Amino acid sequence: MSILVVGSVAFDSIKTPFGEVDEVLGGSACYFSTSASFFTDVSLVAVVGEDFPEEHVDFLQSRNIDLAGLQRSSGKTFRWKGRYEYDLNEAHTLETHLNVFESFQPELPENYRDAEYVFLANIDPELQLEVLQQVKNPQLVACDTMNFWIEGKKEALIKTLARVDILAINEAEVRQLADEPNLVKAARIVRDFGPKTLVVKRGEYGVLMFGEGSIFSAPAYPLEEVFDPTGAGDTFAGGFIGYLAATRNFDEHNLRKAIVFGTVMASFTVEKFSLDRLKEIDYAEIEARFRRIKLLTDFADID
Ligand code: AMP
Repeated sequence: MSILVVGSVAFDSIKTPFGEVDEVLGGSACYFSTSASFFTDVSLVAVVGEDFPEEHVDFLQSRNIDLAGLQRSSGKTFRWKGRYEYDLNEAHTLETHLNVFESFQPELPENYRDAEYVFLANIDPELQLEVLQQVKNPQLVACDTMNFWIEGKKEALIKTLARVDILAINEAEVRQLADEPNLVKAARIVRDFGPKTLVVKRGEYGVLMFGEGSIFSAPAYPLEEVFDPTGAGDTFAGGFIGYLAATRNFDEHNLRKAIVFGTVMASFTVEKFSLDRLKEIDYAEIEARFRRIKLLTDFADID
């Protein structure tokens, strides 16, 4: 039932029209694991530098996340700097410093190798594959990536995708990866790379899931205040895969429910910077938003 995740643990510096922060806790693996920890056990694989404060380690541990696979290397922690305009759907990367990730050699602790669920969060696709090769017999492998890796390491990414069951990426990245502007055609091309299920993240417009002969559309949770969209995608994935791992059921009905739990989790993250909002919530609030999203799209029984 435990999920193994590999991804970035980062210091993010972010500017949105509503505020600015410098070197706050971020990274794909942090958002994913914190979100998934509301549903199931999570084991994390990543690297940080000597500058990573104990306070962040304590927080991840307080969420019951297994950190045996979090290496500490000499050097600096990964850093990302980004900015958003009023269109919060598009992140503009200003700086990416891989730092300790450049020489990272993932070595899974023995008890991680039996993981049933694996999430390859956004990180170098070569590292994603190295981690996957050390897992004995995963039941479900899901993956995320971004334009940075599609541009820089497409071949490695396609090799990784051949072993992936579910790919969750942004709309623009689906088009870029497929080299095809039409989303439905692009989804077919990407699914032919390996993942039977493709989840297309569309920011404030929600999510489209392409499966075998079916498409499911889920709206985003309507919020009056969206403060910072950083981490929304990873938090979505944490809720989505977390729910699937907790329920151990991958049929179409349950996949749809999992998509809505992912949507709910992402709606919390965007309300504040960093993981600040996820630090405040409890499971009752998650369930309450789940019920409200259900009502939002329920029209079949209303005359
Ligand atoms: P998202 O959920 O797509 O908004 O992801 C946001 C997180 O991705 C930020 O916290 C960044 O630290 C992290 N990030 C940005 N660029 C990269 C990259 N090239 N590789 C891995 N993680 C990244």
